Amino acid sequence: MSSYGILANGVVITGGQRSQVLSDGAVVWKEDRIVAVGPAAEVRREHPRAEQQLDARGGLILPGLVNVHHHFYSALARGLDPGTPMRNFAEVLDRLWWRLDRALDEETVRVSAEISAAECIRHGCTTVFDHHASPSFIDGSLDIIASAIEQAGLSALLCYEVTDRNGPQDARAGIAENLRFLRARRTDARVRGVFGLHASFTLRDETLEAVANERPAGAGCHIHVAEDPVDVAETQRAFGCDPVERLCRFDLLDERALLAHGIHLDAKAYATIAEHDATILHNPESNANNGVGRLDVEEVVERGCLVGLGTDGMSSSVLRSLRFAFLSHRGARRDPMAGFGALPDLLHSNVRIARRFFDEPSLGKLTPGAPADLIAIDAVPPTPLQPANLFGHFVYGASEYPVRHTVARGKILLENHTHATLDPTAIAGRALELAPALWERFHALQWGTSYLG
Ligand SMILES: [Zn+2]
Repeated sequence: MSSYGILANGVVITGGQRSQVLSDGAVVWKEDRIVAVGPAAEVRREHPRAEQQLDARGGLILPGLVNVHHHFYSALARGLDPGTPMRNFAEVLDRLWWRLDRALDEETVRVSAEISAAECIRHGCTTVFDHHASPSFIDGSLDIIASAIEQAGLSALLCYEVTDRNGPQDARAGIAENLRFLRARRTDARVRGVFGLHASFTLRDETLEAVANERPAGAGCHIHVAEDPVDVAETQRAFGCDPVERLCRFDLLDERALLAHGIHLDAKAYATIAEHDATILHNPESNANNGVGRLDVEEVVERGCLVGLGTDGMSSSVLRSLRFAFLSHRGARRDPMAGFGALPDLLHSNVRIARRFFDEPSLGKLTPGAPADLIAIDAVPPTPLQPANLFGHFVYGASEYPVRHTVARGKILLENHTHATLDPTAIAGRALELAPALWERFHALQWGTSYLG
């Protein structure tokens, strides 16, 4: 079915570096491209035959959001009691996440991806970067996630988390899964691969050497870096350098290197990241949840680093993450003026990062020729909204309102709060059937995994 639609009756925020605001605007798309953006009356006059009509009801119309760090597989951890205390981050990994990932099978990987994809749609995210681990089901796991993403109608950058903690065979299988997926999806417009790595402290030199040698040129990598001091201390102890320097040793730091967290690094490491034009992915809610410390976004941006914003499996709401990033930054700085430096750029930084992986120079912008990824949020502005105070409207307003419509590449995924491509109630029903057995497998597994296998 051909797609020709209009989203109107809202405040259009065009996105991009210098976003414009149209108080009574409309956006028209044909197939997967935006064809017109402008004042509603004018646009309607020029496109009287648009078949799909979406009404924003006075709310905000903006480009689909990008989430640069997610873990779909965490969806079935909700309410899971690990049954043992977790006194620090290393224990959180060992006693919760590294047991959960080993308990996952094909069906639980699939349903976790479906749950997360539905939540992305409900929160207005149309492009998402996932970081996946399922050691008992490695080969083909990225295809299962890709098919859920395709069914949902989203765009995604997927990877499998290579690590040595489960032994050399699993590390090898993880490398193979990344290579297979990267090659298969090299020219895919919507779902692509990047090379997934867990973190320096669970990766042996031989494994990084293999990744460096076998990775296709320009593949990039997506890795956790200095999320907790354990990564820095263990890397220093076992390899005599910090995690950033270690990536440099294997030539893995480039403009497609995605470094999640990047909290416990020194000035030299930030300078190295900036020099290589690599990216730091900030996940403030997750960092608070794990009690691992926090990244000072303004400081690292001043040091020249590009910083994006993720949710790290905590939720699928980029706007909630933005609000938390802002409030926690002010709280930590004890400064009611802080946060207006670098934080307003985070959403656009996500777009810039996504453009490095997809051949879409106008992704994240409402302009003719751009991909038709657009959303409407039920936040009817009660005060003047201008480009200069957009951030205030996001963190104090839009982040608290539901998304009404989500359109991705011209396909309606959410219409008047109702999903068009997925059935979240049916998905939750299936998840509820699978979760008890998953949790049983989880509880049967031991902890005490050694970092390097
Ligand atoms: Zn993560």
